[in-house]
Amino acid sequence: MELVLPRHIGESEARHFLDRHRVWAYQKLEDIRQRSGRLKQSCVPLIGGASVPFQGVATELVVVEGGRRKVHRRLDGAFEIHLPQGSLEQEALEIRHALYSWVRVWMRAEVSSLIDHFTPLEGLEPRRIRIKAMKTRWGSLGPKNDMNLNWLLAFTPPEVLAYVVIHEICHIRFRNHSKAFWDLVARHDPCWPERRFWLKQHGTALLHRFG
Ligand SMILES: [Zn+2]
Repeated sequence: MELVLPRHIGESEARHFLDRHRVWAYQKLEDIRQRSGRLKQSCVPLIGGASVPFQGVATELVVVEGGRRKVHRRLDGAFEIHLPQGSLEQEALEIRHALYSWVRVWMRAEVSSLIDHFTPLEGLEPRRIRIKAMKTRWGSLGPKNDMNLNWLLAFTPPEVLAYVVIHEICHIRFRNHSKAFWDLVARHDPCWPERRFWLKQHGTALLHRFG
């Protein structure tokens, strides 16, 4: 703790002041400590700790303050997140923004290569891929075959992301959940019931944590 003194006050006088106000000073320090503790706690529902389950594997978040907002993946796998100076008060929100931008670029590449593999097999191709924050759904297909995917699929095992992509592509042929639709899905992902079960079991928690 630092005591800032007006120039005309001598050291002994200052000590005397501190002695008389020791309880008050400690109380103030305790207040500050508690307030910063509360700040940390309020971050929990948004991002929930120092790691994210990237592709289903706990991946460390390392926050560096200073410079402009950016994310890069380190060789050890951790996400290094750079936030502008003074933005730590809104740390959880800032981390979410930074990760969201990174994930959208990453997922676009990932989904494109899945589609490149799939399209020659069935001749089905979405017109556009949109990766966005969706509150309740994992994917959807618009009337003009635009595919929407929830960015949180980055935090599911890779098979689950692949399943959702296959599911939506199959809707280009069948706009329903008929037996023919599920047969087509099964041809490309025989374990689809397992993926669906995973989303049922863990999906809500993921939506709540980042939503
Ligand atoms: Zn569907």
